[in-house]
Amino acid sequence: MNYRHAYHAGNFADVVKHATLALVIEHMKLKPAPFRIIDTHAGIGVYDLASIEAQKTGEWREGIGRVLDAKLSPEVEQLLAPYLSVVRQLNPADAVIRYPGSPLIARELMRADDRLVVNELHPEDHKALNRLFAHDPQVKVMSLDAWTAVKALLPPPERRGVVLIDPAFEQPGELDRLITALKEGVRRFAGGTYLLWYPIKEQRPVTAFRKKVAELGLPKATAYELTIRDPEDETRLNGAGLIVINGPFTLAAKMKALLPELARVLQQAKGGGFRIENLGNEDPGGVKSVE
Ligand code: SAM
Repeated sequence: MNYRHAYHAGNFADVVKHATLALVIEHMKLKPAPFRIIDTHAGIGVYDLASIEAQKTGEWREGIGRVLDAKLSPEVEQLLAPYLSVVRQLNPADAVIRYPGSPLIARELMRADDRLVVNELHPEDHKALNRLFAHDPQVKVMSLDAWTAVKALLPPPERRGVVLIDPAFEQPGELDRLITALKEGVRRFAGGTYLLWYPIKEQRPVTAFRKKVAELGLPKATAYELTIRDPEDETRLNGAGLIVINGPFTLAAKMKALLPELARVLQQAKGGGFRIENLGNEDPGGVKSVE
């Protein structure tokens, strides 16, 4: 396991993933019944942007750095508010020095009766997570292999939940493992909301992946993607996507407002853009697939 998220924390892909996660969590809060958030590949939960790792790539400057400096429409400001409130809470008014990972975003947005399970296999990262959530009765920190965690942790006792599956994509076959995990997940917990993250380097494997998700025949499945340049170089992260299963019915319309603006702010070269594609049997909130 060589991947360390500290090199990438706050990059454009984190922005899209974390803004979407925050929108999903906010929607869950509209009903009083408690829910559980399960983060199968959690990382360390909070990142020091002055660390050697973050400084080495500077990726956050082209991600959260740009978003915080950008002039956004009032609608997009509002859509980003839950996510950016967590980022701002961690930082002084005039600088960005720390960035929250998905565990901290979940922890800050959930309510007193909701629960969070964060799972991380890397021994050092797992230790860091343990320190972050020491003595927090609402958070359970685990160190299972994520693919085992999906089986072990579902269904959650609350029967309401959000499952974030955010692999490191270090090994070949991760897209297929995502499909297997999704099948396993919905078999155990059909009503859960799943967010599956995937990298976009070249178009071909992503098109095949989307097709495989569509072939599962799930009622509610939508792909949300953002590219920062033409996806033509397999050695670079040119974009990122999230498949959302059983997302809120309002999510597609929100993403239709959010993604074009994020694409404009985060674009790094020609060919940047966004895509929303319905992969389920139901219409995703009246929004047709768009590119
Ligand atoms: N979800 C985090 C966030 O948004 O802040 C970032 C997670 S990072 C992309 C992927 C994480 O998965 C890494 O910290 C890596 O150590 C961990 N990981 C890799 N393989 C794993 C496995 N089989 N089981 C659990 N964790 C794994």
